Amino acid sequence: MSLNGGRPAPASPSPTAPSADVHSDFGAPAGYREAYALRLSSSSRAVVGLNLGAIALLVPAIALFVWPAAARGFIAQDLVFTLTVTLVDALILIGATVGVVLTHEVVHGLVMQAFGARPRYGIKWELLAAYATAAGHLFRRDQFLLVALAPLLTLTPLLWLAAWWAPAGTLWMALALAGILNTVGAVGDLFMSWKALAHPRTALVLDEEDGMRVYVPAPAVVPQEPDTPSGPA
Ligand SMILES: [Zn+2]
Repeated sequence: MSLNGGRPAPASPSPTAPSADVHSDFGAPAGYREAYALRLSSSSRAVVGLNLGAIALLVPAIALFVWPAAARGFIAQDLVFTLTVTLVDALILIGATVGVVLTHEVVHGLVMQAFGARPRYGIKWELLAAYATAAGHLFRRDQFLLVALAPLLTLTPLLWLAAWWAPAGTLWMALALAGILNTVGAVGDLFMSWKALAHPRTALVLDEEDGMRVYVPAPAVVPQEPDTPSGPA
């Protein structure tokens, strides 16, 4: 279950212990403890898992966007076999690719902003991924879910509806390509949402460039019998 890059979970934070290469710009907020941390750039396992997830997601995503063309009867003659890609076509398709990647991140960022965060955008080259993040901003769990899932829940349906309307040809292909990329590109968002959902609604989530941290309320330090049978809580 631990996908936090082989980093030992900070189960018992000792205030003065120097932590090796731990990114600890933001410690747990008062009254909370870190319950989960994901750092993709130091977890090749998670990256491989997400790539496999993306490949798995590709099948339903393609089916979803081929459906409008198949239903409208132009899939075979106009697209797959006889589309001759001109330079303009290629530019439109590249534009759709870049455009949907940027729009996807802007949608994340707008929802972050709606929750009072100040998003920052960038590209994580080693993961070949664009990101929007709000450094240090703690989202409530359900806010985080909206931030994470907004591009999938808005752009994919919009592009899908547009794919029903667009004429056969390059424009349709651009929309379908954008829709497929937006859907497949949400694999990390789905994964992080699933991880967030594993924690109670009272959890706080920190969104980071290439991962996340989840904090859950820590029981207040109440003087008690010293020996209650305890496992890792
Ligand atoms: Zn995303």
